[in-house]
This record gives sequence, structure tokens and C-alpha cells, in this order.
Amino acid sequence: MKWTNYHTHTKFCDGNAWPVQMIEKAIEQGVYAYGFSGHSPVPFESDWNMQMPELPEYFQQIDEIKEKYGSQIHVFKGMEVDYIAGLLGPKNFRQYNLDYIIGSVHYIKRYNTGDYCTVDHTADKFNTGLIELFDSKIEAFSKFYYQQVMDLLVSDKPDIVGHIDLIKKFNKGNRFFDENDNWYKMQVSEVLQIVKEQGVIIEINTRGKYKNLTDEFYPSDWILRECKKLGISVTISADAHTPAEISKEYENVAVLLNEIGIREIMILDNQGWRPVGFSEKGLDV
Ligand SMILES: [Zn+2]
Ligand SMILES: [Zn+2]
Repeated sequence: MKWTNYHTHTKFCDGNAWPVQMIEKAIEQGVYAYGFSGHSPVPFESDWNMQMPELPEYFQQIDEIKEKYGSQIHVFKGMEVDYIAGLLGPKNFRQYNLDYIIGSVHYIKRYNTGDYCTVDHTADKFNTGLIELFDSKIEAFSKFYYQQVMDLLVSDKPDIVGHIDLIKKFNKGNRFFDENDNWYKMQVSEVLQIVKEQGVIIEINTRGKYKNLTDEFYPSDWILRECKKLGISVTISADAHTPAEISKEYENVAVLLNEIGIREIMILDNQGWRPVGFSEKGLDV
């Protein structure tokens, strides 16, 4: 079916397939446009980010894919860049002339040991960070997370903001907080205002849902309703780490968006970024 996915990973970071395997599966599925968004290198040890010396090979493989498969599918060279205030952001990767950048906040704060607390690694690690860095105050943890997202949007604007409410990844059954709480709604609303002002695209990322971690997509339904009210542009992505995940849950996103009243999503093709209509069966392209 004709969909687009600009949030995908490969063996260069924490995916399980090489770029060519991903693109062949995408073509088989009739995907219209596909973007590679490997996790950017970070200036400390990480086993799920790309390593700096691997970048030339990553770029070369994508260039070769553009050359070989470009007549069958629109292919784009992107990156999911980690934003870490004062340390790393999209601006560190502009020199590579990427087709687009997803800006994401995964790393939160450093422990005294120098290790980072991440927002999305494991529930246990999330809980340890909450206790040790935020004195068990989830409101403070969440505020810190959303502040990083706002800094990213204001100081180092990406094309797409990745899984904007990732803070809820381990919150099934309201383990840590209730999204209906006023403090949480206020924090998210503040971020959405900035998204709107900066004209950044929000991705509807299906990964949390198909991995059975979250009950709703990133972002939650109520946030999508706010996006609709504010006129914020959205795109759909699967944050695919395997060929089987390339357009997972897309039909359900289409149903949901239709119900919310969002009639167009942003796509990138050789005409640049533009809004197009869609149905459960795919994009109107
Ligand atoms: Zn991510
Ligand atoms: Zn990702």
C-alpha cells in the first residue's frame, strides 16, 4: 500500500536488517517514499547509536540505493538525531546535507558516574532515574523531558520531532502518572504551542503500540486532537527496526485520524514536503 515512512533503523544502529533489505521489503509492500533515519552518533559510549566512523558507509549505502531503486520508490537520507542540551543536536549533523532530520530526546540527565539516564531504555532504568535524579517526582522528570523537547524545537529545529510523548513509554496502566492530570496537560500544551510556532512536523509513531508497550500511539489521541485544533502538521511513521515493521498499524492510524478530523498528512517526495490526503488504503498520491 502507498504509505511513507521516514523513521526507520538498520543494522548501522539497532535495527536487524541492512538498508537494502529494508528497501526491498518497502518496494514489495508498495511503499511510496522511504527515509533512513539511523540513530545519530553520540559523544559517549552507546550500543544503539551509529558510530562516527560508520557514517560514510551509511551514507554510501543509501546513495547506492537511491541510484538503484530510485525509479521504484522515493528514497531519502535522514538521521534521528539525539538532542542533548549543550552537547548534541541537529546542528552537529547539518554538514552532511541530509534530506531531513528527526530530532528526538532519549537521553535525559547524567548520573554522577557519567552515565546517562534514558527515557526509553527499560522500565527499571526509567524508575531508577526517577528516584535518583528527580527525587521520585514524576512531574519534575516529565518537565525536564519536555523542556529538552522545547529547547530542541527553539534552538536547533529539526524537520520532524520524534515520538513527542516518549515519556509515557513505560506508563501502561498509569504506572507513573495519569495523562489526565492537569500538570501533564499543561506541560504538553506548552510544547504544542512551540511546535506550532516553529512549524515542525509531529510524527504519529506506531512503535509503542505494536510493541505492546503503550495503549495509544505516540502521541496520544488527546494530543492529536490538540494538534488538529492548532493546525499542527503530522506524518505517520513506524520507527521500524525490522522489515516487518515498515508500515505496521498504519491502517489504524488512518482510521483514528479520520475520526479526529485530520484529513492530510505530510509527505516528502521529489516535490519537497507537502500535505496529501489519505484513506485506510493509503495515500492519495
Ligand atoms: Zn527514537
Ligand atoms: Zn527511532
